[in-house]
This record gives sequence, C-alpha cells and structure tokens, in this order.
Amino acid sequence: MLKDKVALVTGASRGIGRSISLVLARQGARIVAVDLDPEGLEKVADEIREAGSDAVVVKGNVTVSEDAERMVEEAVKAFGRIDILINNAGITRDSLLVRMKDEDWDAVLNVNLKGAFLCTRSVTKVMSKQRSGTIINIASVVGQMGNIGQANYCASKAGVIGLTKSNARELARRNITVNAVAPGFIATDMTEAMPEKVRQELAAQIPLNRLGSADDVANAVLFLASDQAAYITGQVIGVNGGMYM
Ligand code: NAP
Repeated sequence: MLKDKVALVTGASRGIGRSISLVLARQGARIVAVDLDPEGLEKVADEIREAGSDAVVVKGNVTVSEDAERMVEEAVKAFGRIDILINNAGITRDSLLVRMKDEDWDAVLNVNLKGAFLCTRSVTKVMSKQRSGTIINIASVVGQMGNIGQANYCASKAGVIGLTKSNARELARRNITVNAVAPGFIATDMTEAMPEKVRQELAAQIPLNRLGSADDVANAVLFLASDQAAYITGQVIGVNGGMYM
C-alpha cells in the first residue's frame, strides 16, 4: 500500500507514534523516526527492520527549529524524499486552570502546536518541490469537546485542528494534503498516568465501552497516508469509540 513511500514520524519511540511507524512500515513505507529518546528509537528501528522495511532514526526536539530542519535533511539524505509527515509528538501537563503554571501552559503549547508548525514548515519545502505529499496531525477529541484540567492541552489540540485546515487550504495548490486524526482515550503511557478510577469513569462515557488501542489510531493514519485518501484534505477523523459525534 505504501511501497516506496517515505514517512517521517515524530514522537516515534513509544505509544501511538511507535504503532504508526510499525503499521506504515508493514505496508512498505520507509520510516524516519524522530524522538527525544535515542534508546526507544533504536528499538523501534529494529522492529521496523524486522517487519521488512527500512528506518533511520533522528534524535530531535520538535520545539527547536534547527532540529526540525535537521530531521528533514537527514530524511532526504537517507531516502531522497519525504511523502508523509506524521506530527505525533505530544505531552500533557494537566491541572485545574487556577493552578496551571505559566511553564505548563508554555511547554504544552510548544510541543503540541509549535512543534507541529515547525516540522510542517520544514517538510513543506521538500514536498512543494516534489509537488506531492501528505501531512497528518495527531489532534485529540478534547481539542473538539474540551476537558476539565486540560486548558493547555485542549487549546493546543484545537490549535492543531486550525493549523490543519489553514495548511490544507494553503498547500492544496502544491498537491499536498493535510488532515488530522483526533483520538479519544487511547491506552498508552499518557493515559496509564491517570488514576484507575478516572480511567474507568472515562471508559463509561465511551459508547464502544473501552479505551482505544494505539493500532486503532495507526489504522486511521494508514488510510489517510495512502493513495486511497488522495481527495481528502482539511478533515478531522475522530478515532474515539463514539465519544464525540
Ligand atoms: P506518549 O506515549 O507519551 O508518547 C509521546 C512521544 O512523544 C514520546 O515518545 C515522547 O518522547 C515524544 N515527545 C515528547 N516531546 C517531544 C519533543 N519535544 N520532541 C520530540 N518528541 C517528543 O503519548 P501517546 O499517548 O502515544 O500520544 C501520541 C500523540 O497522540 C500525542 O500528540 C497525544 O497528544 C495524542 N493523543 C493521545 C491520546 C491518548 O489517549 N493517549 C489521546 C488523544 C491524543 P520521550 O519518550 O522521549 O518522552
């Protein structure tokens, strides 16, 4: 499905980013895996090679524009092109609004929103020359519906949806599509950090009555990354078990 395509995935060393990397690799994509954690990256790269594809790893921070430039340079050096960008790196720093520290606001907006902007700006130069490419931003259901204790995170993810639509309009003339996947509550380290009681209460609000898996998200990303989705741009695909309709 993705034979000969090159995909750059941020936050690739664990959770949803790792699943996306493996699902795309199993369909033939060569992966440029970016993360802060070099050990995790090497493990994912080994798994990608075991799946029969090729990978290069780049230790980089999506909030640093030099790193965003460097990851694109490394990708082009290794594989000659970039067809798919997955802006997946993300963090949470939850607390109620009145207790939210300036640093927690800035950190979350920096990684989740500015990081997606920097990586997109950098990759777009390559995709524009190719006159083809697809960019998939990982948003969140709470960017669509809000959540108590997550003002910074919800604002960043709503921002990612605005960024998606703006970039989709701007880049369409270059034959670049831009979409977002908005996961609901997915079983990863991020949700593992929540108290069990909160996780159970959350599951009870989900019509399909379970947390999603990282592969549930990766499969939606795979569709958007494929040629089958060539006429889809500026859209937000919910992968949320019916939590938000
Ligand atoms: P995760 O398990 O915490 O993994 C996040 C990954 O991003 C980690 O590998 C982390 O690196 C990396 N990362 C963090 N800051 C970075 C930076 N500045 N530069 C480069 N890499 C960075 O999270 P996840 O649950 O897989 O979430 C992935 C994405 O899905 C995020 O955008 C998240 O907001 C979104 N999402 C998750 C859920 C959910 O329920 N889990 C729901 C909706 C949306 P380290 O390993 O070095 O920390």
